[in-house]
Amino acid sequence: MKKLLLLLLLLVSSVYAKVIITTTIYPLYDVVQDVGGDNVELNNLIPFGTEPHAFEPTPQNIVTLLKSDLFIISSPVMEPWADKIIKANHLEKITTDMSKYVRIKKHKSFKEGKAFDPHYWLSFNNYIRMVKEIEALLVAKDAINSKTYKKNAKNYIEKIKTLQDKYETLKSCKNKRVIVNHDAFGYLSDDYGIKQYSISGMSPDEQPSAKQIAQLIDIVKKENIHTVFFEEFANDKLSKTIAKEAGAKSEELSPAGNISKQAHRKNVKFLDIMRKNLVKLKKAMDCQ
Ligand SMILES: [Zn+2]
Repeated sequence: MKKLLLLLLLLVSSVYAKVIITTTIYPLYDVVQDVGGDNVELNNLIPFGTEPHAFEPTPQNIVTLLKSDLFIISSPVMEPWADKIIKANHLEKITTDMSKYVRIKKHKSFKEGKAFDPHYWLSFNNYIRMVKEIEALLVAKDAINSKTYKKNAKNYIEKIKTLQDKYETLKSCKNKRVIVNHDAFGYLSDDYGIKQYSISGMSPDEQPSAKQIAQLIDIVKKENIHTVFFEEFANDKLSKTIAKEAGAKSEELSPAGNISKQAHRKNVKFLDIMRKNLVKLKKAMDCQ
């Protein structure tokens, strides 16, 4: 009888115990939120409302990580600080590097070595792979709720595919050139045959020279680009100057690497951001 009671207790506690997951960038948080649902206690390491490239971990972050069942990072390129923390706190067994499960592409600024363009979440096919990998992680960690995780993942993938279909319209735009604040839209540009010009490099804190700025103003004029994009968590001064000098408009486009605190409170999802981005891209690229 005692044994049976103990077994029952174990079973009940494993059904109700939540899987504690810590993620780095917002897209990972967004996917875990949808696939994990109520079975997951989710921690966001990079605070909402901040620029993700500029993040530096705090001692409190380590405390959070030591309590986590799973730690999901986007890549060592995006989170160069992660490796040291993982090794120092023996987190290897709970860590997943999502960049190993998606299609990654090289970037011109990295001539050699293992570096690549870290903004892979801006390709819908990669986003679907992220959903599938997080589903697999949750099923392995919490088999009792595997049916729920599978159902949640399937539903999310359906929603992603619906928006992905709408993005197809970008392929037939008249002016397939965009100028963005930093080199975040390489994957999206590849998917739809867009030429991306960027004001700063792989990270928003890489500043262009005066000569490069003059060249960009020239490009905006020559390529008939009428919208210069800026982004929420980076300085918009240069985008606005270039737009003004070239007689173009300036408009926000989100790389979706993070969302504001307010947007998080309103439960803004990755797909909401991408829906807004589509409207702006269609306008900027003269689509039907
Ligand atoms: Zn970026």
